Amino acid sequence: MELLWAPWRLSYVSKVGKEEPRGCFICRAAAEHPDRDEENLLLYKGEKALVILNRFPYNTGHLMVCPVRHTGDFTSLLPEELLEVNRLIQKSIEVLKRAYNPDGFNVGLNLGRAAGGSVDTHIHFHVVPRWNGDTNFMPVTAGVKVIPQALDETYRRLKECWE
Ligand SMILES: [Zn+2]
Repeated sequence: MELLWAPWRLSYVSKVGKEEPRGCFICRAAAEHPDRDEENLLLYKGEKALVILNRFPYNTGHLMVCPVRHTGDFTSLLPEELLEVNRLIQKSIEVLKRAYNPDGFNVGLNLGRAAGGSVDTHIHFHVVPRWNGDTNFMPVTAGVKVIPQALDETYRRLKECWE
């Protein structure tokens, strides 16, 4: 067995998975006062997971379901985090059905920039409602598209349906 003395690795290794949530819009939305939820597009915050509207939506009602804890490592999620994330994905689908009656959904996770993830430090599942006749499948984070309903209006509609 070869032992490698590489002290510069230590600071790198000790940082992995413990990145500062500073600058992370998901953490900021979760930490701020509920008065700012609408501005932050935070739809719901549970104990271990939360739901936030995508500010650059692929479609009207494009939601993101995230663990509250700041991590980009899916394999580090604890059973209770996995459970609440999945419950909130379920509820997001129910609420979007009630609000917009879509014909289908894209639900998924882009892990890492190489996979198309735009924010790779805080896990977020995309929940994107789809309608017959909207464009063909493409990566849900592919970017800008004309959205027929303004974000604040979408937020209020979904908030109403959530409660
Ligand atoms: Zn974060």
